[in-house]
Amino acid sequence: MSKNVLVLADVRDGELRNVSLECLAAASQVAEGGVVTAAVFGSDAKGQVDKLSHHGADQVVTVSNPKLDQYTTDAYFQAFKQVIDKTDPDVIFTGHTAVGRDVSPRIAARLGLGLVSDCTAVDFSDGKIVFTRPIYAGKAFVKKAVREGKVFATLRPNNIAALEADTSRSAVAEELEVDIAEDSLRTLVKELVRKTSDGVDLSEARIVVAGGRGVKSADGFKPLEELAEVLGAAVGASRGACDAEYCDYALQIGQTGKVVTPDLYIACGISGAIQHLAGMSNSKVIVAINKDPEASIFSVADYGIVGDLFDVVPMLTEEFKKV
Ligand code: FAD
Repeated sequence: MSKNVLVLADVRDGELRNVSLECLAAASQVAEGGVVTAAVFGSDAKGQVDKLSHHGADQVVTVSNPKLDQYTTDAYFQAFKQVIDKTDPDVIFTGHTAVGRDVSPRIAARLGLGLVSDCTAVDFSDGKIVFTRPIYAGKAFVKKAVREGKVFATLRPNNIAALEADTSRSAVAEELEVDIAEDSLRTLVKELVRKTSDGVDLSEARIVVAGGRGVKSADGFKPLEELAEVLGAAVGASRGACDAEYCDYALQIGQTGKVVTPDLYIACGISGAIQHLAGMSNSKVIVAINKDPEASIFSVADYGIVGDLFDVVPMLTEEFKKV
């Protein structure tokens, strides 16, 4: 049976986040001939229409209200609810990003939708959409389906491949006027201060070079940053490194940090505590560099290098420079 699917696109610094394109791929998979609609908010929403249509949207609803330029729960809730009322979707997807994690429970609770969050796969079984999501800090996976009514799911970045861009596709674009009253906003973003560099976004990076307490100091991150630059990777960290003030908490990966699923994860001087593994053990290929051959990180690693990271990392950088 065909389904109408709505994707809330996530835009950062004027760029669509890759996970929004991955949501469109999942939407195309479950629509079975139904309409795939993308919703995009903010002053430059109209500039995203082509890319969304090239990646699978049949229809794009833009809400260009400048009150949506910076995410706030109240403003996004109002706009998103109006898009849902207008498009009446059977299924809703958004990325499991900071925005998706915040807005999805509010929408689901207010509209009485079944919510499955942080999904890593979407399939069909007995006519139902079945979502796979990790549990117990990534140690096991559970399959879930919503019994009745509309379904809302957030998708973990880097798990479902986006569709190849098809530039011959064009979507029906429609601007929706949404009045957002000033006094309905209980919070206001006054200033945005970025703690991370302008480099590759950690949660969507294809390659992550992460450092732990083994880097020994803030300067100890330099060889990792050089390797990351050569590989086009993002730099991440264990909580051990953050707690020791070698780097900012924005880089923390794990149970209480970011969850990443890159194609390649290079762990340098990280012991592999369960709380760290919760954030990275689903990476496709894991390389661990640690001078302790008994370190737990080797139990999840595809490739292990027993050695001093200050010898190994610069060697890798030199070798990758030659490629
Ligand atoms: P360590 O455990 O100290 O390991 C350092 C490693 O570096 C060692 O294995 C050592 O052999 C190696 N090493 C040292 N020098 C070198 C060298 N020169 N070359 C190569 N290897 C070297 N942790 C997270 O990471 N993320 C989380 O989100 C998180 N959430 C937590 C939540 C809770 C509620 C709790 C209780 C803990 C949490 N932790 C988290 C902390 C976690 O338990 C570990 O303490 C932390 O991950 C350890 O960081 P580490 O591996 O960098 O440090």
